[in-house]
Amino acid sequence: MKPSIIVHGGAWSIPDAAVAACRAGCQAALAVAWPILERGGSSLDAVEAAIVSLEEHPEFDAGIGSHLNAAGRVALDAILMEGQTLKAGAVAVVERIRNPIRLARKILQSSEHLMLVGAGAEKFAVEQGMALCDPEELITARERRAWQQCSVHGHRDEFHFSPGTPGSPSSVATGTVGAVAMDSQGRIVAGTSTGGTCCKRPGRVGDSPLIGCGCYADEQAGGISCTGWGEAIMKVVLAKTAADLLRAGYESTGEPEGAAFRAAQKSIEILAVRTQGTGGLILLDRAGRVGFAHSTPRMAYGYVAPDGSFITSV
Ligand code: ASP
Repeated sequence: MKPSIIVHGGAWSIPDAAVAACRAGCQAALAVAWPILERGGSSLDAVEAAIVSLEEHPEFDAGIGSHLNAAGRVALDAILMEGQTLKAGAVAVVERIRNPIRLARKILQSSEHLMLVGAGAEKFAVEQGMALCDPEELITARERRAWQQCSVHGHRDEFHFSPGTPGSPSSVATGTVGAVAMDSQGRIVAGTSTGGTCCKRPGRVGDSPLIGCGCYADEQAGGISCTGWGEAIMKVVLAKTAADLLRAGYESTGEPEGAAFRAAQKSIEILAVRTQGTGGLILLDRAGRVGFAHSTPRMAYGYVAPDGSFITSV
């Protein structure tokens, strides 16, 4: 089977000056993940590699550069799910894990549980041979400054944007990251990683690491990764809603061209109509065809076109 991959870097009102950096982040994620799929590697490896790349990119609200919570700390959430087995590994509220998607994979593969949070998750990471990081390592100067401003004036997107000096890159934290891939054996995997919302209450968990909300994969339907306002996304179990629409499409009309896009669009409409919430999602249908939709002004995403070229957009 021909492999396929799509990634995203969040759905928000991304300022013009940050567009190039967001596209570069998506391009870099495709550049590490696509060769894995091209040489016959697994979708699990490809999605993990893409998300590690996005977590390491300080432009995104995942891993390094994440938003700070109300207590001034970074608390990370992530999930990885396999469409063939319906196995998932999820982690929430970890403060000393540099790449939470790697820990999500350990939970998927080496734990009897699906989700671990906080200190228990970090203890499991150590047992699995993962190094804990200094929490300060995850905090960028831009996010520290933004947190100080948001704490006083309330959250505003522009506080998270530091225009670069002429000739140097600008910096903005735009959103959650995610990836969905299908490998040459037809195995679909989806993953999502986030620092969550700015100034969230300590202990808050959004949609991102919750199975069916921020991520879902089922080889009978497809794979989905979501981003946006978590408190709304959870209400409509957005990723599972999209999977159900993909499945219903197959049952009624087969696999017509454009079905993946219609399922993505319809899911975002359900989010808007039922919750007045905004967000975005990327997906692959079970044949590996891409779809995406968002109701926010912008979403950063990238995928590999059938001719092998990388398409990125914001
Ligand atoms: N969905 C994430 C959350 O609510 C935020 C985002 O996607 O930007 O934690």
